[in-house]
Amino acid sequence: MSPRRAHSPFDRLRQTFEEAPLRCDACGYVDDSSEWRVTTSGSRVRYQYCCPTCGALDTRELRLSA
Ligand SMILES: [Zn+2]
Repeated sequence: MSPRRAHSPFDRLRQTFEEAPLRCDACGYVDDSSEWRVTTSGSRVRYQYCCPTCGALDTRELRLSA
């Protein structure tokens, strides 16, 4: 019997990112095979996605609250 780890708000947000299909705001290209590139620094998490079609860079930044 293994108790389930409670998901933090960040975990839920991350799931939202990872489950949603990627869509480029610039050209509308939908890419459901690529993933966000995730980088963390301190209390911030940055999601970046580079569109393979037009090269636009989509960046989302999340701030983790302690
Ligand atoms: Zn694009």
